[in-house]
Amino acid sequence: MPSALFDLRSATATEVDAAVPAQTAQLLADAALDEQSSAAVQRQAAVLVQAQRAALEHRWIDRFLQQYGLHTAEGLALLTLAEAYLRVPDAPTATRLIAEKLTDGNWRSHRGASDDWRVNALTRLLIVARTAIAAAPELAHLARPWVALALQMLGRQFVFGRDMQGALARARRRELRGFLFSYDMLGESARTDADAERYLRAYQAAIAAVGARAARGGSSGRNDGISVKLSALNCRYEPLQRAHAVPELIASVRQLALAARAQNIGLTIDAEETERLEMSLAVIAAVASDARLEGWDGFGLAIQAYQRRAPELIDWAQGLARHTGLPLNVRLVKGAYWDLEIERAQERALEDFPVYTRKSVTDVSYLACAHRLLHAPGLIPAFATHNARTAASILHWARERGAPEFQRLHGMGVGLYEGPMREGALRCRIYAPVGGYAELLPYLVRRILENGANAGFVHQLGNPAVSDERLLGDPVTQLQRARSQENEAIVAPKNLFPDRANSAGIDFSDAAATEALLARMALHWQRPQRAAPLIGGREAEGVTSRLLDPADSARIVGTVAQAGLVELAQAFEIAQREQPRWGTLAVEARAQCLERMAGIIERERDEFMALAVREAGKSLADALAEVREAVDFCRYYAGQARRLMAPQPLPGPTGEHNEWRWAARGIFACISPWNFPLAIFLGQISAALVTGNAVLAKPAPQTPLMAHRAVRALLEAGVPPGVIACLPGDDALGAALVADRRLAGVVFTGSNATARRIAQALLADESRPLVPLIAETGGLNAMIVDSTALLERAVGDVLASAFQSAGQRCSALRLLCVQEDIAPALLAMLSGAMAKLRIGDPAALDTDVGPVIDAEARRGLEDYIASLPPQQVLYRCPLPAQAGTGHFVAPTLVRLAQIEDLRREVFGPVLHVACWRAGELERTVDRINASGYGLTMGLQTRLTAHIEQVRARARVGNLYVNRSMIGAVVGSQPFGGEGLSGTGPKAGGPNYLTRFMTERALSIDTTAAGGNVQLLREAD
Ligand SMILES: Cc1cc2nc3c(=O)[nH]c(=O)nc-3n(C[C@H](O)[C@H](O)[C@H](O)COP(=O)(O)OP(=O)(O)OC[C@H]3O[C@@H](n4cnc5c(N)ncnc54)[C@H](O)[C@@H]3O)c2cc1C
Repeated sequence: MPSALFDLRSATATEVDAAVPAQTAQLLADAALDEQSSAAVQRQAAVLVQAQRAALEHRWIDRFLQQYGLHTAEGLALLTLAEAYLRVPDAPTATRLIAEKLTDGNWRSHRGASDDWRVNALTRLLIVARTAIAAAPELAHLARPWVALALQMLGRQFVFGRDMQGALARARRRELRGFLFSYDMLGESARTDADAERYLRAYQAAIAAVGARAARGGSSGRNDGISVKLSALNCRYEPLQRAHAVPELIASVRQLALAARAQNIGLTIDAEETERLEMSLAVIAAVASDARLEGWDGFGLAIQAYQRRAPELIDWAQGLARHTGLPLNVRLVKGAYWDLEIERAQERALEDFPVYTRKSVTDVSYLACAHRLLHAPGLIPAFATHNARTAASILHWARERGAPEFQRLHGMGVGLYEGPMREGALRCRIYAPVGGYAELLPYLVRRILENGANAGFVHQLGNPAVSDERLLGDPVTQLQRARSQENEAIVAPKNLFPDRANSAGIDFSDAAATEALLARMALHWQRPQRAAPLIGGREAEGVTSRLLDPADSARIVGTVAQAGLVELAQAFEIAQREQPRWGTLAVEARAQCLERMAGIIERERDEFMALAVREAGKSLADALAEVREAVDFCRYYAGQARRLMAPQPLPGPTGEHNEWRWAARGIFACISPWNFPLAIFLGQISAALVTGNAVLAKPAPQTPLMAHRAVRALLEAGVPPGVIACLPGDDALGAALVADRRLAGVVFTGSNATARRIAQALLADESRPLVPLIAETGGLNAMIVDSTALLERAVGDVLASAFQSAGQRCSALRLLCVQEDIAPALLAMLSGAMAKLRIGDPAALDTDVGPVIDAEARRGLEDYIASLPPQQVLYRCPLPAQAGTGHFVAPTLVRLAQIEDLRREVFGPVLHVACWRAGELERTVDRINASGYGLTMGLQTRLTAHIEQVRARARVGNLYVNRSMIGAVVGSQPFGGEGLSGTGPKAGGPNYLTRFMTERALSIDTTAAGGNVQLLREAD
């Protein structure tokens, strides 16, 4: 297999990027029709759409989903009910979910609104139920069997059978005669090996069942087949795990492909999120190259037309077919994860969206890809669409080529293909998902979303107000008329924040680019690194010691010369001299320094990331997050300072000028921890500097290299050398620093004990002014999970919150509080998922959990775990062999009898778990509050009432609902706690800078010269 075949992105990236408009022009050219053909397509599409609309008459479900679209509060309430209800095991929560969702929204507004009597009858039923439940909520339990029945009916509309036996029986029904089927075993996003094995067995059984009815001779395309989601077959099907996931998937898919070949049936690999695309291609290429598949025409893949890379993918598939001699089936779809792709690209600050942002471009791309497919030797096309206009165009192109295969999802596109199929103009296959209630929910939700999406063809089809003409509008014309191929309503990742440029992300799914990044980082690791006191722009000497890599204590990362009392005195002297000039400089000049700093960090990103990995033991993803946060702090505080520091005129009598403004305080001590050696270090410093203060920074003893590099960058950015000093040193230096009465404030992040010592030092000298202390300390952060939560999702968020950065974040999850009804299932899944965590060298792409910071930290954690009764330790991850040379601590799950048993912050990868009973949510929050800490809290629920209860009661600075509890984004999630967790104001929030400043008012009597000139000038 030539490697270029895999190298889709690097081979095409430059051409594609440079030629986006040209690419669209090419799509338009490929999709365009002459006038006569266009008219013919329009006529055919009109016939097809009428057939679809006629079929709708018999389908109340489409009318129902039309009436309760996603733009209505009631539609959203029903979606949540459908998504969660079937998995809730306990009666009280299930009843509560019904009561809440049925009393949400205004059901009366739908009374008689549909032109389908069945939908109106259902609406009446919903109104009656709502009224009864609103009057007597306990009645909601009576609705439970009906809700379960309704959801099962809804499930049946989109899910073909609960098992293969039922599905095969249903396929034989009269109204489905003539259709072929591709069976999909529901289940995606396996979380554990056990899940993945179960799904593999289900696929094997399905192949045997389908094969038992297949014709042995002739093309497999004449038989039913199966569709496979790779995410069901591997629980670590993630870009950074590709080194393991891809070979494992090749083995699983090869097994299935050989079985399918033996049965002479087709096997198509579904297309999932774009970040998984390259991995899926590697799997497909390897399996297709297996000589034992020779002579089989059933292997294939789905290609999504909404992806910008779709045309190149078709060329890639063609190349693979040519190279292996194996004909490949290509199922062209538009794509089912559009909203997710847009959200992810924004969240990860990717350079661009991987998918188109206008529906018409997706449609045109589909047509252009269809055109390409129809002329691609070695590829067997199948067109999966429910859109009559799209289908008619392809039928037009395919007319000389013989009947192509079309495909539709079970429950969708009904009526579209029956006519042409019976006339022999096409073959149609139904994608038939099979699975029980536990597996169907994610699929069901995607179908409801698809049916409810405003831009979607099926949604508009069910709306009588949308005429056939409008429905069948030509996407080529629509795109030609559009001002731009991009949808301005969708904010590009780099423009996410109105007042600042977003920090740039890295697309780790681009294997070649990620490897190149690692190679560049390695160059930095080879260079000797050195930190020393930096005072007045000059490096000072000092007692030097070596810094060791936390992942490998035999590796020296660099050396550090310590600052002593002499250097401290010198730094104070210079800062005192230089600060007044800096403090009275126009805020604009200081803000520009920070913005230049942000630019420098992004320019030198590889070096900063390299330092984060080697000096602080951060994984690649954490190192990137660290750098991005630092950039965000610089840009955010620059903007905030401009906004806050402009003088404000104040009212007063004529002849008087009044003005109020913020002003710098003087010299700030910035004392930062090792766990965010760049982000927190620079967050503190940039806030102090931009507000006009001078800074004496004392970085953590473990991470002076990063601090030294950052301060050099600040000097390059234009910060005057006299207002920033970096003083690496020990606790004694820190004590001397805060004891100095010349300080105008201290900003500190670290332990509670040290924060207290600093506070006492600031108060010790009675002659000293009271200065601000901004302290951010730790937390006993809890996540509450109720029985409506989606376990797969909750487990993912728990893993990230508790074990990312080896649990060494002050925001990290320490205490998981699970509703007891779901505890056994959740803990089993959590232990299974923990077993798949990779612990090791943070420089390795696939490392999830790196080392803890030093030997002392490791000893403390191990001693703590050893002190627990063994039966409380529910699970410990195995440590890899290399662990001996680094400070690794195995992620550990500890059972507590009660919440109160967690008495102190255990700063590492140790997660405690306690249970609570249904109905005790508020009491649970109170018990968590009772610890006195108040930093972060998580909640996983589908109940709005639970969100409200926790929000009202939790005494924490940051509450995260249905997501992880880490990774606060500057300006989006201002970060900081209350109680024992810190003083505030929140870092990255609108009030942070105010603590670094003092208020000054100015009042001038402008008449002092003898008269009120202004009044006389302005009076008529
Ligand atoms: C047999 C079969 C197999 C399938 N397998 C897969 C699969 O493996 N992977 C997968 O992802 N999907 C798969 N799908 C789902 C499929 O992607 C959707 O059903 C399909 O997108 C609907 O297209 P349409 O032509 O019927 O509808 P239309 O309504 O004409 O088109 C909907 C498409 O437009 C896109 N769209 C909507 N708004 C915008 C916008 N603003 N900018 C850009 N695009 C927009 C939607 O995301 C969607 O892709 C499959 C479908 C079928 C029928």
